[in-house]
Amino acid sequence: MADDLAELLHELIVATRILANQNVLDAFGHVSVRHPRDAQRYFISRHQAPELAEVADLVELNLDSEPVRPTEFRLYSERVIHGEIYKARPDVNAVCHHHSHAVLPFCISGQQLVPVFHLPAVIGQVPFWDQRDEFGDTNMLVVKPEEGASLARALGANWMVLMRRHGATVAGTSLRELTFRTVFGCENAALQSAAMAHGHVDSLSPGEIELSSTHSVRPPSTNRAWDYWVRRVEKARLMPSKVQAKRSATTAKRSKAKAAKSTKAKRRHWS
Ligand SMILES: [Zn+2]
Repeated sequence: MADDLAELLHELIVATRILANQNVLDAFGHVSVRHPRDAQRYFISRHQAPELAEVADLVELNLDSEPVRPTEFRLYSERVIHGEIYKARPDVNAVCHHHSHAVLPFCISGQQLVPVFHLPAVIGQVPFWDQRDEFGDTNMLVVKPEEGASLARALGANWMVLMRRHGATVAGTSLRELTFRTVFGCENAALQSAAMAHGHVDSLSPGEIELSSTHSVRPPSTNRAWDYWVRRVEKARLMPSKVQAKRSATTAKRSKAKAAKSTKAKRRHWS
């Protein structure tokens, strides 16, 4: 386990804690990151409330969303959302799926979600996916690869897609960009709903969206917001320790060597 991979997995847990602390994720929802050295794999927590995830809970999946190695962990049923988006979008390195109450009014009403102030310009155009169009009545979850692929098609070249009566899925080129877009996507939704109570609300212009989003996805902006949200996580005593991440990486390395000697695969968390 190289230090840069251990660092990335730690950052995945930090991103998850931020999104939980910002009330984007609750008992449900999940965040993933593409493997930095193998574009055909990604990391995601085992099945649990995302705020509870530690580095040791991460599993490594291929883009068919199957574990790279046998695991006893239960996996998220909706993990195909992540795998199918990584397949369709080589430029995407991080994905979040959530059911934030800020966006749900738009998922229920079909009202168009649009950037209404400068920071959420990063959500750009937000398409609306209705699972019934291709699959009729379902249990509303995205569990089949073809359902995930359909959602990825609806996302297209955009960065956020609303899902009818369900939630939203957001993509980013990095974990920090994803976190920025996910948090401000939810804040935009809450503010758009509030502003609509005052009267007509329209979007930033296409030119404003382009110029503002280009400015906001630069590291000075995403890092500044990241540092602020990390401080809030620290104040909430939710910050995972880096020591723990590195210790977990070492533990995983040892268990990998041990498992290689065994004919029976044991539970392992990543490669
Ligand atoms: Zn869901």
